[in-house]
Amino acid sequence: MKKINVGVVGATGVVGETFIELLQERNFRVGDLKLFASDSSAGMSRKFAGRDYPISMLEPSCFKGLDIVFFSAGEGISKKWAPQAVASGAFAVDNSSAFRMDDNFDLVVPEVNGDLLEKHHQKPTIIANPNCSTIQLVVALKPLQEKFGIHDVRVASYQSVSGAGRDGMNELLENLKEPKGFSPKVFPKAIAFNSIPQIGEFDEQGFCGEEQKIMFESKKILRQKDLKVSAFTVRIPSLNSHAEAVWVRLKTNDLNKAQIESCLSLGQGLKLIDLKDPEKYPTQSFASGKDPVYVGRIHAELDSRDTWMMWVVADNLRKGAALNGIQIAERIFDISMK
Ligand code: NAP
Repeated sequence: MKKINVGVVGATGVVGETFIELLQERNFRVGDLKLFASDSSAGMSRKFAGRDYPISMLEPSCFKGLDIVFFSAGEGISKKWAPQAVASGAFAVDNSSAFRMDDNFDLVVPEVNGDLLEKHHQKPTIIANPNCSTIQLVVALKPLQEKFGIHDVRVASYQSVSGAGRDGMNELLENLKEPKGFSPKVFPKAIAFNSIPQIGEFDEQGFCGEEQKIMFESKKILRQKDLKVSAFTVRIPSLNSHAEAVWVRLKTNDLNKAQIESCLSLGQGLKLIDLKDPEKYPTQSFASGKDPVYVGRIHAELDSRDTWMMWVVADNLRKGAALNGIQIAERIFDISMK
């Protein structure tokens, strides 16, 4: 079976390292592996399948011979280098927001709209990987949309510091040691023993960047232009995994809880945890290091015939970033081998 030559840009970051871990864990058919980061990582290496791979800097022709390149080094790097990867014959799977809302590129969560990948066959292009909090939301919404139809969605997020990269994780750990008089650099306020209702910059209407991503990306991935999505995002001092409280107004009235649970339990990539389960409901520490999107605490809104509430939790570095990217690659190459 043909091996696949892989590049990882941002290989020393928390998402990049998760890519390397998952390539091994999922026995991705890696031929050559090229790892890239900034010049501050010059001379470093990362282990893959028992071998040390050096970290290189990005330079013209650095993608030559690669079949796919995973980008997780920020928007600026992706804008500049992802088109170069494609020009040299590789697929580029981009974790930044550079191409997500561009109509020329697909924004893909394989369980939700993976069929879009079929048209690419062996023709390299850029595929955008959605925002982490969007991915787990749409995985949970998809079965409900398919079976009952959705009018609108409201979501409040509880997002971990790993969503802000390695610096975010380090800032929480430092802040916990120095709770008083701490000067934050990554987050707008001290994160230890706190919660911050701002992720990204505010727009004129009062939404922050993360909220805009969830609201716009979800409609594109679910291919429902009239879907109303309203998001309120909050950073909390958990190290990894994001949680979301979600209100979904369905197009079908008077369903019972068993019908909703049975629908969700069949969702691809989704795992239902109900109060009868020993876990009772998913939490961030439970979801960390695991692949599924977990859903629990399902109940109807009070005095409502059509609105359901649920709690959705997933590892933002896995399903929210690297795992979704690798699943895209698995689809591309399985499809192209047919
Ligand atoms: P991170 O831990 O801060 O890692 C950033 C990576 O980018 C590092 O490997 C860094 O290399 C590399 N980098 C920075 N400047 C570079 C340059 N000039 N050339 C090459 N590489 C460079 O951040 P992260 O959380 O992994 O996030 C990376 C990307 O994934 C971002 O676009 C982010 O929006 C996206 N993303 C993150 C998450 C998440 O949950 N964290 C989820 C979805 C998407 P050095 O170590 O050498 O500086």
